[in-house]
Amino acid sequence: DATIRFQDVEQVFMSSDGTAVQALANVNFSIARHEFVAVIGPSGCGKSTLLRIIAGLVRPTRGSVQIYGLPVTEPREEIGIVFQRPTLLPWLNILDNVTFPMRHKYGRVTAQETERARELLALTRLEEFAAKRPDELSGGMQQRVGIARALLHDPDILLMDEPFSALDALTRDEMSFELLRIWTEKPKTVLFITHSIPEALLLADRILVMSARPGAVREIIDVGLPRP
Ligand code: ADP
Ligand code: ADP
Repeated sequence: DATIRFQDVEQVFMSSDGTAVQALANVNFSIARHEFVAVIGPSGCGKSTLLRIIAGLVRPTRGSVQIYGLPVTEPREEIGIVFQRPTLLPWLNILDNVTFPMRHKYGRVTAQETERARELLALTRLEEFAAKRPDELSGGMQQRVGIARALLHDPDILLMDEPFSALDALTRDEMSFELLRIWTEKPKTVLFITHSIPEALLLADRILVMSARPGAVREIIDVGLPRP
């Protein structure tokens, strides 16, 4: 009944000079539905690769990756992704940025999607900024737009790759509490990559610790704290 399951996953990249880089080796873990899992580990240990495999953006060299019991073969609609910076389109207002993936994919945005985008702007406390342009918002607010956009088609799985690492320390702390609030209101299965142990401890049910030699999951820690 795992939502995400990795079995004996290995990832080898060919670098431009022709040498093989082992990004993942013997990765085994699963994530239950609506579990919030943080991934920590040194730079280059394979955290982003793990996320990109789940997202269907990278095909693993070996092993099996399943979502809801089915192998991952391509990017799927039920997955939302948030990166370090939200790549907002500067000429579109915030509401249109949130609905942009729909416009891009289907050439139009339905009234229902616009309504949903407004709800998500309320959830991320941005409703007063719907008509503003991205450069009128602070970094933290822009990152919340990225979260709203990732939630637009109501994905059951949310993948976040160091979503707050471009922000200043105070904003990061605020954003962690915002994310916890959003997650409590709208539980999702979350994989959250971070370099911040306090962030991982605040947010996660479990923490995957990855090793740099060569990037396998070394330990899985149950945080086991009651949530506020
Ligand atoms: P992390 O997110 O933990 O910093 P990554 O998953 O980005 O680690 O990278 C893991 C290893 O794989 C690194 O050595 C990186 O240089 C290498 N790598 C990642 N993507 C590619 C790629 N497309 N081509 C070649 N090497 C890659
Ligand atoms: P964040 O913590 O999201 O980075 P800031 O600390 O920069 O936001 O801003 C705090 C508050 O100030 C915001 O929640 C918002 O109400 C207001 N604010 C920030 N930037 C702007 C702006 N460009 N125009 C209007 N209000 C703003």
